[in-house]
Amino acid sequence: MSDTAVYIHIPYCKSKCGYCDFCSSPDTSTADEYTAELIRRIKLCEPGNAASVYFGGGTPSYIGAKRLIRVLEAVASRFHLSSNCEITAECNPGTTDEGELRELRLAGFNRISAGIQTAVSEELAALGRTSHTVEDGERLFASARRAGFDNINLDLMYGIPGQSAESLDKSLSFVTGLGPEHVSAYALRLEEGTPLYREAPRLPDDDTVADMYELINSRLRGAGYVRYEISNFAKPGYESRHNLRYWRGGDYIGIGVSAASLSGNVRYVQSPDMEKFLSHIPPDTVETLDGAARLEEYVMLRLRLAEGIDKKDFEIRFGRNFEAEYGKQIKKYVNGGFAADTAERFYLTDKGAFVSNTVIADFI
Ligand code: SF4
Repeated sequence: MSDTAVYIHIPYCKSKCGYCDFCSSPDTSTADEYTAELIRRIKLCEPGNAASVYFGGGTPSYIGAKRLIRVLEAVASRFHLSSNCEITAECNPGTTDEGELRELRLAGFNRISAGIQTAVSEELAALGRTSHTVEDGERLFASARRAGFDNINLDLMYGIPGQSAESLDKSLSFVTGLGPEHVSAYALRLEEGTPLYREAPRLPDDDTVADMYELINSRLRGAGYVRYEISNFAKPGYESRHNLRYWRGGDYIGIGVSAASLSGNVRYVQSPDMEKFLSHIPPDTVETLDGAARLEEYVMLRLRLAEGIDKKDFEIRFGRNFEAEYGKQIKKYVNGGFAADTAERFYLTDKGAFVSNTVIADFI
């Protein structure tokens, strides 16, 4: 049986954050029908083994534990979940209580991911993130721990309008004080079409944002986290297995509006249109990645990982020698201290990670 990872998209949120361009809506009137359609589609999947299941969104917890558990049961009826299967639910602050977290834990969910973003109320307001307070984040974390979750991710954001190194430091102290097993830290991007994009607020300049990234690295490292991907930090052994699969170029199955699947060289993407999804319309974008596209994507994703490119794996997948292919770039970035090159691997150093976009662009 094939080995895969299963992603379930839950497109509902308590309110829409000002910077969000994910497929989500506060209107939950379709939640029952949507749950039923997810289950119907899961039951049509080819049986296989799943090493991870990830409920993302949106805010999965917003539709309640019972619906999520029914969907997880459908996944478990179709896929053999490995004994150490990582089963994550995104649960944003202010959308779930301890009783529901206990239900999720009992049903087999073993990882929670929560977007707290910042410990500064004014920054939550600047993000247009009105669905929760800083204290809600703290409460959710404590409830998840009491409910038995010993693997929790917290999302942080930097480059927020009005944010300074000092205020970011405060958020980092808040997060390290809670002590989650995993922290994701992404820079704010103004995505076209979002309210924040239209507002065009003044953002911290590039140098300040670069300093913020350095601060995140040093504070989290000092607290025992390892940066295993450009924006992701984990206590040893708590790296996200689900996301590692994406970054390492493995196959996955995504179910739900806007969800993507990858099977070999073919990517399927479901339309974000709820009506189409509820009318049983299958993924309407089917893209066959040619060798060049697959190679580009592989290099781009692998260079984001601290483990970098495994030269043998590269040769097996693409029938090419990594050093012969990228000799010029390897020399340039190793000499500049941006990358390290061993017989087995090529990877970005901290200095390279700070300018990863530029380095990766040079490779692809
Ligand atoms: S909670 Fe997440 S998915 Fe929902 S609106 Fe905010 S950023 Fe978007």
